Amino acid sequence: MPETTQEGFDVAIIGGGPAGLFGAFYAGLRGMKTLLLDALPELGGQLAVLYPEKYIFDVPGFPKILARDLVKQLVEQAMQSSPTVRLEEQVTNIEPIGERQIKLSTTRGVYQTKAVLIAAGVGAFAPNKLDAPGVARLEGNGIYYFVRSKEEFADKRLLIVGGGDSAVDWALNLQDTCREITLIHRRDQFRAHEGSIKDMYASRTNVMTFWELKEVHGEDKVEAVTIVNNQTKEERELPMDAVLLTLGFKADMGPIKNWGLSLEKRSIKVDSKFATSMPGVYAAGDIAAADVKLDLIAVGFGQAAIAVNAIKTYIDPKARLFPGHSSEMSDSAKSH
Ligand SMILES: Cc1cc2nc3c(=O)[nH]c(=O)nc-3n(C[C@H](O)[C@H](O)[C@H](O)COP(=O)(O)OP(=O)(O)OC[C@H]3O[C@@H](n4cnc5c(N)ncnc54)[C@H](O)[C@@H]3O)c2cc1C
Repeated sequence: MPETTQEGFDVAIIGGGPAGLFGAFYAGLRGMKTLLLDALPELGGQLAVLYPEKYIFDVPGFPKILARDLVKQLVEQAMQSSPTVRLEEQVTNIEPIGERQIKLSTTRGVYQTKAVLIAAGVGAFAPNKLDAPGVARLEGNGIYYFVRSKEEFADKRLLIVGGGDSAVDWALNLQDTCREITLIHRRDQFRAHEGSIKDMYASRTNVMTFWELKEVHGEDKVEAVTIVNNQTKEERELPMDAVLLTLGFKADMGPIKNWGLSLEKRSIKVDSKFATSMPGVYAAGDIAAADVKLDLIAVGFGQAAIAVNAIKTYIDPKARLFPGHSSEMSDSAKSH
């Protein structure tokens, strides 16, 4: 099938973590047509996948804020100018194809943009998978790594595997949706918010510690699981309709290493305007090897603002670098 290319973007932002989200907001403020892509099904980067329930104390204006709440605010701010958002799309290649034109290929499509901001953090996040019989075969047919819609779990017998925030949160959030919820964890300590753990034990979730998933059974959909107690070696077969694996994430810089950009260890070299070695391609946040490298949210915000304003002057050499003060713009100017 011939590739259809979506054209007409001023800037494509790779990565929807804090740097990418604030970059998307700023691009909107500067009237740029923006594409925001992330490999994950949700926005927020490390904050959303690694520590949603942790408080952050060093974001200006917030004496303390939960990572998940900061993501919510950042998303609301970024969406004011309605950027095109593509989730579950990993960018696999970028390639200059002419004067101020870059072809961007993803796992799902092809886009054309005048400039690119790489805000890819520590790389694309993907869920850790489990190498147990039946798991890979039944992926998409009862084996889940994310909850995209609670409806998918309506009236199902669900097995949640894991002991982190996601496992505990979903055990609580799916209470009214599932017929039965069993949660197994290989240890008896959970890495989740204390209050949520208490709530889970008080809920109708059947919590089983020291149990692991051994096998998933079913022809073309999940029908049962075998679990094993790692202390006593006892095995049990339980009828089940769905399995949600919440085993953490691994980040992979992957394809970015092959895009022909100058790199410094696992980061991309940038100049004082956060331009990389490839014309029209900028980098901000944890992925950027700036002169002073401080992998912090507040630093990424500033870098994204500088990069996006520099991108504005790159795609429109008559434009000013200084965006003006947002406090002096009308509401309508801020949202397109
Ligand atoms: C446990 C923990 C606690 C922390 N606490 C704090 C704190 O208190 N204060 C603080 O300032 N910082 C803290 N940090 C650091 C902070 O989270 C990072 O500095 C910040 O998330 C970097 O933001 P980013 O937008 O550059 O990248 P990320 O948050 O890493 O987001 C990058 C996004 O890009 C996506 N991506 C990557 N490659 C691709 C690709 N090829 N295609 C599509 N998408 C891609 C990824 O899926 C990811 O969603 C903490 C980090 C951790 C792990």
